Amino acid sequence: MSMDIENKEQEVEQEKAGPEGEGTEENHYDDVCFVCHRPESKTGKMIHLTKEISICPECMQRTMDMMSSGNVDYSKLDFSRMPNISMINLADLQNLIPRRQKVKKKAPKKAADQAEPKKEFDIRSVPAPHRIKESLDEYVIGQEKAKKVISVAVYNHYKRVAAGSEADGIEIEKSNMLMIGPTGSGKTYLVKTLARLLDVPLAIADATSLTEAGYIGDDIESVLSKLLAAANNDVEKAERGIVFIDEIDKIAKKKNTHQRDVSGESVQQGMLKLLEGAEVEVPVGANSKNAMVPLETINTKNILFICGGAFPDLEDIIKERLNKQSSIGFRADLKDKYDHEKNLLRRVTVEDIRKFGMIPEFIGRLPVIFTLDALSEDMMVSILKEPKNAILKQYQKLLALDEVRLEFTEGALRAIAKKAMEKDTGARALRAIIEDFMLDIMYEIPKDDNIGQVMITEDYIEHKGGPVITMRGAPALEMQG
Ligand code: ADP
Repeated sequence: MSMDIENKEQEVEQEKAGPEGEGTEENHYDDVCFVCHRPESKTGKMIHLTKEISICPECMQRTMDMMSSGNVDYSKLDFSRMPNISMINLADLQNLIPRRQKVKKKAPKKAADQAEPKKEFDIRSVPAPHRIKESLDEYVIGQEKAKKVISVAVYNHYKRVAAGSEADGIEIEKSNMLMIGPTGSGKTYLVKTLARLLDVPLAIADATSLTEAGYIGDDIESVLSKLLAAANNDVEKAERGIVFIDEIDKIAKKKNTHQRDVSGESVQQGMLKLLEGAEVEVPVGANSKNAMVPLETINTKNILFICGGAFPDLEDIIKERLNKQSSIGFRADLKDKYDHEKNLLRRVTVEDIRKFGMIPEFIGRLPVIFTLDALSEDMMVSILKEPKNAILKQYQKLLALDEVRLEFTEGALRAIAKKAMEKDTGARALRAIIEDFMLDIMYEIPKDDNIGQVMITEDYIEHKGGPVITMRGAPALEMQG
């Protein structure tokens, strides 16, 4: 190797002296890289290790990379055999490396929403309760009491957020809510609509998936991870959001159990500090904390928690209490007096909920308790056609794109509502029923460009006939059902 180097040095000297051996000015000649032997004109500015030895930036870089990658066994290198090389002070070399070799550091990325001006939450922008209810009315049918209660509670909550803790020491209590209502009566829908109207982030979590930290399932803090995600990872925005925890009745205290209740009472216990307001470490983008997940601290003081559930056996508990009350004394009643009472849930008390299996501390942190009524047939019909984004309106719009008018007779709507009532899943059944028969319509109608109107009749819903089809500029026909 040393021979090689000496030969190369001679070549360099020769080149410097010029082919004809004339001594010319140094800058007429290119330096040649000590490693790759390319001239400076090709490699870019050389780095001069000594007066005689130059190295091109590329080779220098490669050498550095090799050294830093740990692929070089320094113990086997014999520096003494290299001519004119003793130890290189790498710090000096850094200054010599051409600037372009340095990788320009990327400026730290700005969060997408940091770019836009920050909107401060302004109390004047929270509409008055009657305005909130008016807006809810456009989407949610019936449930008057629930809409009223939620409008006031939300208004108070955001007023409290805006007021902060004043110097007078009076702190307005948080208005977390407990919403009790049968499946498909609009609990989730109500909260979703509310969050959209208020333009606050909303997280919807399912209490059944939550377990005490460390057990299989989601940590309780995961509900806040969802909220953070809904707020585009903007902690400040998340701290003013709404968390809706559905199926809260599923975390009732288990009766007669001798095992540790990791998904029932323990979850209620774990949720206490969230509901009340605390600084909580939240896993970002994951459902449980572990070493690989970054954590973010969120203060839950101003987060509005709404818990919802169907509480299936609660009616029996209420009935039992009412029966007990009415069977005492002069005004003793028949035992089955409450058996047929509609919306018995409205009579719920905190004591009933405690009996159901919710711990007193938990109920205490949900001061606003209200119920939603089971949907009646009339409400179902209204849900079909009245809300701003009613299912019928959606289908009508879809067909209007093909320039076909879609109509439903009153009888058809009743028939759909009746069928939905049988299913006992509330308004959720409506969509399933409509989708079932609309499939044929959506399939058949585009076949014929001449169709101008489709009328869905009761007979069609009950599979006794077809829809009434009207051709453009022609009398109505009945499609074979
Ligand atoms: P749950 O009470 O089980 O949370 P949801 O809120 O999910 O029920 O209701 C299911 C669907 O039924 C909603 O998406 C909504 O379209 C419809 N719905 C239920 N109740 C109402 C209502 N009162 N007004 C309008 N639509 C409703």
